[in-house]
Amino acid sequence: MTETTFDVIVIGAGPAGYPCAIRAAQNGLKVACIDGWKNRDGKYAFGGTCLNAGCIPSKALLESSELYHRAHAEFAAHGIQVGGLGLDVATMQKRKAGIVKASTQGIAGLFKAAGVTALQGHGRLLAGNRVEYTAGDGSTRALVAKHVVLATGSAPMELKSMPFDGQTIVDSWGALEFEAVPKRLGVIGAGVIGLELGSVWRRLGAEVVVLEALEQFLPMADQAVAKEALKHFRKLGLDIRLGAKVSAAKAGKDGVAVAYTDAKGEQAVTVDKVVVAIGRRPWTKDLLGEGTGVEVDPRGFIQVDHECRTGAGNVWAVGDVVRGPMLAHKGKEEGVMVADLIAGQFSEVNLKLVPSVIYTAPEIAWVGQTEEQVKASGRAYKVGSFPFMASGRARAMEAPAGFAKLIAAQDDDEILGVHVIGPMAGELIAEAVLAMEYSASTEDLQRTIHAHPTLSEGLHEAALAADKRAIDMPNR
Ligand SMILES: Cc1cc2nc3c(=O)[nH]c(=O)nc-3n(C[C@H](O)[C@H](O)[C@H](O)COP(=O)(O)OP(=O)(O)OC[C@H]3O[C@@H](n4cnc5c(N)ncnc54)[C@H](O)[C@@H]3O)c2cc1C
Repeated sequence: MTETTFDVIVIGAGPAGYPCAIRAAQNGLKVACIDGWKNRDGKYAFGGTCLNAGCIPSKALLESSELYHRAHAEFAAHGIQVGGLGLDVATMQKRKAGIVKASTQGIAGLFKAAGVTALQGHGRLLAGNRVEYTAGDGSTRALVAKHVVLATGSAPMELKSMPFDGQTIVDSWGALEFEAVPKRLGVIGAGVIGLELGSVWRRLGAEVVVLEALEQFLPMADQAVAKEALKHFRKLGLDIRLGAKVSAAKAGKDGVAVAYTDAKGEQAVTVDKVVVAIGRRPWTKDLLGEGTGVEVDPRGFIQVDHECRTGAGNVWAVGDVVRGPMLAHKGKEEGVMVADLIAGQFSEVNLKLVPSVIYTAPEIAWVGQTEEQVKASGRAYKVGSFPFMASGRARAMEAPAGFAKLIAAQDDDEILGVHVIGPMAGELIAEAVLAMEYSASTEDLQRTIHAHPTLSEGLHEAALAADKRAIDMPNR
């Protein structure tokens, strides 16, 4: 078999792989990108989990369900009457599918424009930087590259006690495809994905029970934010049960009986559908042939250094399949970094400043250290918080919930962490990421002009509050 030669072959065209391929082509390299994602219709689609079954479809449904909820619960306060508010899940799903299709086809267009050879099918790394490509019709081709980048992503974890059946017990993708609002929905796991999906269906009218094994709510978030979030989610009607360890699920005539134990002992709840959102695991199935030298750790992650080198020849790995937060933007930056390093350019990714966002209402976003982490580090610190209740813009939006919180070092004023719960938190956090990327001090933020009236003034006021110089609220 003759081998086709490339400078770079990327396996996986999710948010880690496709930016890597495009940047490598921009750098003048001959690039191929292989992707095997197939949608429910059996057709291949680029974009990986993020575009097909993750970030984009979930945000489409979050937006629709939030509008419905606001029309139902908030429009009256604006003096807007909507008689006979109705819900058409089929149209909602069609809109979502259209957004997904436009996004995934967009990647095919970007590959074409950048000159990337796009190959749909399976890629398998063999020894000596060779890649076996199997197309959809089963035919195989031998490819070889100076550099191979593995970007094969992750897959949802399953609970042994309740395997996915695609109908009543589903993963996050399944929960984005419901054709009707389930009357009673069980969500296993109160992480980012569980809370987002629980919010979607709760806002559309489902009774939602969230079972979380840990006693602590959102342990990775600043605990002041977690406390505030729990209050709002419960107000929305999410029945969040902490310390609830699921032991079994049994489908019957009345629905799925989910058994769990908590501090009080054996419990049970019956629901119509269950979403298992307990986390994701790295995906390397059928990826590594004999003698590649690529090492996988006990949890299944491909081992890499800070520059995403596997240590095996010129093989790199990026995105969910390697250590670090399983986030699209983290994978994207790694992909771009690797493409630049391959081209001999300087590049790095600062894993300490990866923003996290939970797209609920109120939205939650943070970057850097939590107050608990700073306290544990022993460094003297100061905190400034500003409630959105005191923001004219937030009140005008009828969205006064939450606050912006900034934590800074007492000695040199360096910003150590920023945490926002409130309207558009995911957008607001970008300012904090940029400020921290440039090692800004609280004073730098204080002296930066923020337009009025905007939500970003909340962050400005939080920076001022850290030195007891807030203007729009009393300093304590
Ligand atoms: C419901 C949900 C919501 C999410 N929301 C967000 C969000 O709002 N923001 C955010 O940052 N992240 C979000 N995520 C996480 C995000 O989707 C992932 O972090 C991201 O998709 C990881 O990108 P990746 O490129 O590493 O992997 P993936 O997106 O999983 O892409 C990997 C690709 O490689 C393909 N592949 C695997 N093996 C092979 C092979 N051997 N040959 C060929 N192709 C192969 C796969 O089919 C897939 O297309 C969400 C995830 C879910 C499930």
